[in-house]
Amino acid sequence: MLNRYLERLANLDYKTREQQRVKIVIGITLVALVMSLLITFAILLVTGNEMQPIIFIIAAVAPALISPLTSWHVVNLIIRVQKLEEQHRKLATIDDLTGLLTRRAMLDQGEALLKLCQRNRQPFALAILDLDKFKAVNDQYGHAGGDAVLKTFAAIMRRDMRASDLVGRLGGEEFAMALPGTSAEDAVHLLERVRLDTAAAKVTYLEHRIQFTTSVGLAGARGLMVENFASLLKRADDALYQAKEHGRNQVVPTGLEMSGLH
Ligand code: GH3
Ligand code: MG
Ligand code: MG
Repeated sequence: MLNRYLERLANLDYKTREQQRVKIVIGITLVALVMSLLITFAILLVTGNEMQPIIFIIAAVAPALISPLTSWHVVNLIIRVQKLEEQHRKLATIDDLTGLLTRRAMLDQGEALLKLCQRNRQPFALAILDLDKFKAVNDQYGHAGGDAVLKTFAAIMRRDMRASDLVGRLGGEEFAMALPGTSAEDAVHLLERVRLDTAAAKVTYLEHRIQFTTSVGLAGARGLMVENFASLLKRADDALYQAKEHGRNQVVPTGLEMSGLH
């Protein structure tokens, strides 16, 4: 409980957090003071000694001095650890450049979403999207130009997806979209829209207007099928390879009929 309270504390704004911290320190000091006096009284009672003013002063002053100094630093440290944990979690799950899920987060969350769909006997579609001839974009406009393209592409995918879909950057110029509860027709439809929106986009970078396209491999699974996320990813990757082979700027679906997705 204390942990959760301190976690909340780390997320508060500076002023509220400092006020809360003062309250915690005062609380801990009062508890230490009462405990110290109780223990002193108990010892005097057991040993049959009388309470002397000097004993009372020591029993009260010691915790009143030591407790705020130490607890202030301890609470400070705990807040810092909570903040670092939060930062670390963010770095591990959110891709810096595009704001999409990282590969790791995509694999974890995608697997969980697939299992949920399998349990509820819902269809599930997974697409891998890879920008075409992206090396040439970098060569022509520089790395920063390439980065601007990656950001725009991420925004297109985010705009076209539904709230329940997942979208992540698998690495470089390769992305994935997980579409839970989506039929084959709807998945093809959505990816076609992403493909067309991509081809129509013009990224303004310095004095250039950069155009680019994407190839898409799409794989589907149906509720009853026993398949894990990794094997679905492999099938989508094979389909992507075909899209590249057949001239790029196209969506190639695979296994959608076989898995009864229609
Ligand atoms: P294909 O159509 O076959 O996919 O060709 P391609 O050029 O897109 O594929 P290739 O794998 O040869 O090149 C990918 C390029 O993506 C090479 C690499 O420099 C670039 N790249 C990877 N990560 C980043 C990044 O974060 N920013 C930028 N600007 N470029 C990146
Ligand atoms: Mg590429
Ligand atoms: Mg690639």
